[in-house]
Amino acid sequence: MDFTLQHAVELDATDPLRALRECFAVPRWAGEGSAIYLCGHSLGLMPLAAREQVNQVLDDWAQMAVRGHEHGRRPWITYHDALAAPCAELLGCQADEVAIMNSLSVNLQLMLASFYRPAGRRRGVLIEAGAFPSDRYAVSTHLQWHGLEPRDTLIELEPRTGEDCVQEADIEALLERRGEEVALVLWPGVQYLTGQAFDLARIARAAHRAGALVGFDLAHSVGNMPFPLRDLEADFAVWCSYKYLNAGPGATAGCFVHRRHFSTSRPRLAGWWGHELASRFDMPHAFRAAHGAAGFQLSNQSVLAAAPLIASFDLFQRAGVPRLREKSLALGAFFAQLIDARIPEARIITPREPAARGAQLSLRIGANPQRARRVFQWLGEHGVLCDWREPDIIRVAPAPLYNGFADVFRFVERLEQAMRAT
Ligand SMILES: *Cc1c(COP(=O)(O)O)cnc(C)c1O
Repeated sequence: MDFTLQHAVELDATDPLRALRECFAVPRWAGEGSAIYLCGHSLGLMPLAAREQVNQVLDDWAQMAVRGHEHGRRPWITYHDALAAPCAELLGCQADEVAIMNSLSVNLQLMLASFYRPAGRRRGVLIEAGAFPSDRYAVSTHLQWHGLEPRDTLIELEPRTGEDCVQEADIEALLERRGEEVALVLWPGVQYLTGQAFDLARIARAAHRAGALVGFDLAHSVGNMPFPLRDLEADFAVWCSYKYLNAGPGATAGCFVHRRHFSTSRPRLAGWWGHELASRFDMPHAFRAAHGAAGFQLSNQSVLAAAPLIASFDLFQRAGVPRLREKSLALGAFFAQLIDARIPEARIITPREPAARGAQLSLRIGANPQRARRVFQWLGEHGVLCDWREPDIIRVAPAPLYNGFADVFRFVERLEQAMRAT
């Protein structure tokens, strides 16, 4: 391995995706060039073309007002269709299995309403002990809303003692042991803290063997890991659009409903936008669900919050998921080799195997959390944007759409300086 900036710059020069970086706005660093942005797991950079998509909506609103619903350049009534198809292509499922709506936590609550159906002894929801707080709050309040005690019905799986990551074999073992109590398994595609990517098809098989349904939170997977979602056999999935999808803060999120659940008798919390389009504006009293995932929509599309997605999907189409993944794995391997060679005190807790990680690598910097925090602060004061999670984890994600090998090299160099300075 050649550990020089020169080598990193050469790798970037031969990267077939290098031109895509120019399609994004990279934040400045105190007027002296670009910051080192490695925070795509939290908020992806703005595609420059997003502005045009948002402006188009604003212009239509300004010029046509209510007529924009039917006569906008992309009419707002069917705006959804322009989003579901490219999203489904990215996820590897069919367009009618995708609804672009609301935000992630809202969609999770809605999917729980439809897919968590406690009956008899089967009342438990299995989550990971280290679940993202919003997911935990959603599930535990949902259980309470059913009149159930999370103490009895929230089943949490921890990593083995001394380990950071949960092994799929332990999920299988738990479901074999206690499967009859489990109504639903809710699992992340990529764990937000450790960056571990799970074998979701394996988890779905184990859940279904136990007689439970399974939903995936793909917040850290969409735009990061390759799917095909159709092969996972998930009953439902939810995600947000502002992390690796780069659609901006609070951008409209999405959900997936497997076609075996398309029956309009599936219980749901409905609104008029989920009513079939043909008779929606006749204002009928009886709700008739639209075909597929679209029948789970409630409100009319948040067009302004969804418009950047069009720019985003376009970039993913240009890049191609296999090429992005190839670059992502190469960036991660380069990163891990540099850390091992130059900063032995830092430990990467993300699994090294390609199948078990996406773009994000999570670092623990030595044994002293106070010092680790100072290191992180120093990085922030020196033009590096990554993030910190208690008690002592620095999350770093080279996003293959806009990051390169030189970004990774410069990060490791800054980290080395930070370690010396603190
Ligand atoms: C980012 C993230 C969320 C965020 O929820 P919002 O409803 O978009 O605010 C929820 N769950 C997970 C696992 C996440 O990574």
